[in-house]
Amino acid sequence: MRVEGIEAVRRVLCVFPRYTSSFGTFEHAYPLTDGQKAFMPPQGLLVLAAYLPAQWQVRFVDENLTSATREDFEWAEVVFVSGMHIQRQQMNDICRRAHEFDLPAAIGGPSVSACPEYYPSFDYLHVGELGDATDALLRHLAEDVTRPGRQVVFTTKDRVAMSDFPIPAYELADIRRYMLSSLQYSSGCPYQCEFCDIPGLYGRNPRLKTPQQIIAELDKMRECGIADTVYFVDDNFIGNRKAALDLLPHLIEWQKRNGYVTRLACEATLNIAKRPEILEKMREAAFTTIFCGIETPDPDALKAMHKDHNMMVPILEGVKTINSYGMEVVSGIIMGLDSDKPGTADALISFIDESKIPLLTINLLQALPKTPLWDRLEREKRLILDDDTRDSNVDFLLPYEDVVRSWKRAMELAYEPARLFARYQYQCDYTYANRLKVPISPEMKTWKNIRRALIMLRNIFWQVGVLGSYKRVFWKFALGRLRHGDLEGLIGSVLIGHHLIIFARAASSGEQNASNYSLRLREASVPAE
Ligand code: SF4
Repeated sequence: MRVEGIEAVRRVLCVFPRYTSSFGTFEHAYPLTDGQKAFMPPQGLLVLAAYLPAQWQVRFVDENLTSATREDFEWAEVVFVSGMHIQRQQMNDICRRAHEFDLPAAIGGPSVSACPEYYPSFDYLHVGELGDATDALLRHLAEDVTRPGRQVVFTTKDRVAMSDFPIPAYELADIRRYMLSSLQYSSGCPYQCEFCDIPGLYGRNPRLKTPQQIIAELDKMRECGIADTVYFVDDNFIGNRKAALDLLPHLIEWQKRNGYVTRLACEATLNIAKRPEILEKMREAAFTTIFCGIETPDPDALKAMHKDHNMMVPILEGVKTINSYGMEVVSGIIMGLDSDKPGTADALISFIDESKIPLLTINLLQALPKTPLWDRLEREKRLILDDDTRDSNVDFLLPYEDVVRSWKRAMELAYEPARLFARYQYQCDYTYANRLKVPISPEMKTWKNIRRALIMLRNIFWQVGVLGSYKRVFWKFALGRLRHGDLEGLIGSVLIGHHLIIFARAASSGEQNASNYSLRLREASVPAE
């Protein structure tokens, strides 16, 4: 659905800010691809673009691909921006550029919804999800696009039901240039982990789109040149288990119809390992990766952060169960917890070696506003909000330097090339081998797909195998994959593994932030073209 009852015509420039370089930006993988330059198309701005009155003209610029130009700003009547905390500096910079052209700038999305005070220069703040605040903002802009004398805040009280969400305007994004396509099925999470702002922002009772909406979105993505993998960006795919079970048969049918050319990925709590009926259907639907917030292998720490649900099965057993359905586990890990000890980095490395998880995002604990963690640390006077030289706003129980040293050590060891590729080797031999065997369909054998694979292989062999700094490890792994005829395992593992190795080297030498949410506002280092 779109907003109704607006007759004026406006020209809207939607600008998505650059990401500050982080684990999840994968910029070291892009030179190995066939032209991909960014991670995922932004859902929020594309949904908003689809919700605008049909007669409004929209330009969408993702600054991870290309910068908004003078001509874009001269064309526009209003600028919309959205993003996460990690993009805060860049969002404020887009606002500054809009003001140079005397354009009103409006901001929405997760960061401003949690921390409106981060954005004092914007003319309009949209706090909360798509809803009555969106309608009020658009009606206001339909009346008047001059800059207001002071900041105006619109806060959503009535949200648009997700079953009424429009299909994101994927046609505005060049989705071929993204590593993954993104899709949102639900919003909210029933759990209340101490550090997490999702239940506070989006509620504990997950709201859902219908399976028909999801299939229509997937069809539209295919029309727009879908990437190989579609990532369900929901914070917890099994937040509503019955709904997940209802959706999966539709995904299976869609995959059969389309020759299984698309891989699916999602985020879910580790207790999914207790649900074989869900895992089996996910396997049939070609889910290949699940991001699980394991956070820490220490049961006492899990209890303290109210993440007991991670212990419903022993963690290593849970990971192996998921692997046995052909799905690789990607894990979030937090260091700097109150339970950390001097030996935490070593214990973490042992866990990583045992679990065989290749990709773990290892971050220092950061207290986000509107979380139980923030409230507790505020009570304990352990929030440090006035020191932007630190990588965390938490006054750790261990000395700060010790915690950062421990993090660097964990990064260095976890992504030491031989160690990382040993984990990928395991995934190829045991996890990927459990995936659904599908006959090679005509969709897979297109010249476009073959050409893509050849370009990536050429880039990998030249840039990693010839020019790279870990050639011996690479060739040992690559020759093994070639002997098995496993080009998919080779390309997928090296694309991601190369980014992890290069990023971790920078991190362990102090050139990268130790937290995705760090207050150290490093200049955005992911270049726009
Ligand atoms: S399970 Fe995940 S999304 Fe849900 S509250 Fe915990 S960390 Fe947040």
